[in-house]
Amino acid sequence: MRTPQVATLEGLPNRVTVYEVGARDGLQNESTVLDVAVKIEFIERLVASGLRAVELTSFVPPSWIPQLADAEALLKGLGELAGRHPVLVPNQRGLDRALEAGVREIAIFASATESFAQRNLNRSRAESLAIFADVAQRAVASGMAVRGYVSMCFGDPWEGDVALGSVADVVEALVAMGCGEVSLGDTIGVATPGQVVALLDELARRGIGPERLAVHFHDTYGQALANTLCALQQGVTTVDASAGGLGGCPYAGSATGNLATEDLVWHLQGLGIETGVDLEALCRTSLWMAGQLGRPSPSRTVSALAASLEGPVAEA
Ligand code: MG
Repeated sequence: MRTPQVATLEGLPNRVTVYEVGARDGLQNESTVLDVAVKIEFIERLVASGLRAVELTSFVPPSWIPQLADAEALLKGLGELAGRHPVLVPNQRGLDRALEAGVREIAIFASATESFAQRNLNRSRAESLAIFADVAQRAVASGMAVRGYVSMCFGDPWEGDVALGSVADVVEALVAMGCGEVSLGDTIGVATPGQVVALLDELARRGIGPERLAVHFHDTYGQALANTLCALQQGVTTVDASAGGLGGCPYAGSATGNLATEDLVWHLQGLGIETGVDLEALCRTSLWMAGQLGRPSPSRTVSALAASLEGPVAEA
């Protein structure tokens, strides 16, 4: 299989953590509901490919997201992996379920904008932050690590432009409630590099440095890797991505949503940045998953490498 020729650039980290969201953010936005055994195999393969942070599922009420209604069965089937990777938790009930399942790391999901808070969480931004504060404090008191997501950081489908200050306020609130890491989400994929640098600068001015931050870019408008490179130049070392580009973008009506993990890993390998990820094993996993979902992967790297991979790659 072809690999990128390595050529380094000054001012970039030596090592990046790829935070894999395909099994949660990806599958929750796919119309096909997969059998729990398929999800277990998917996650086991992702971990075996060298990914060190794999978000497993979400403890949202099953009626909200039928694709992830099997969270308990999934974690039971994953055995000890359940205690080593994060799950999303929307409220106290979700935290109860996570604690019962032996989860040690959770993620909570806040909105930078009032419109998305109302539509996604059915509450004002301030009300939802108050709920998350209680969840985060109890999780931290139980010895869990907590990650915060902020969605709509660079644009909102109802409000348009989003003010830097209002994003930074939410990030500050998440850090104050105990989030060890906050992931900045470009939920509709509209960000361009100047916006990324401006937000990271504003957060640094408020005392929140890149070591506390992750970036979560969508490739809807083809900007995800340009934005990633700028974030790395600013010192960010954790980047979210979805294997095979799973998930699409429900708010932009586009098949291209989450940055594909393979596209990210190709980019980082070319820059000589260590990720620990076996790109070939990951591509094989995404080709297999595309077979399970009955449609090709939107990842350019998966498509480009598919023909050169030896042996059977899609069994479905
Ligand atoms: Mg996403």
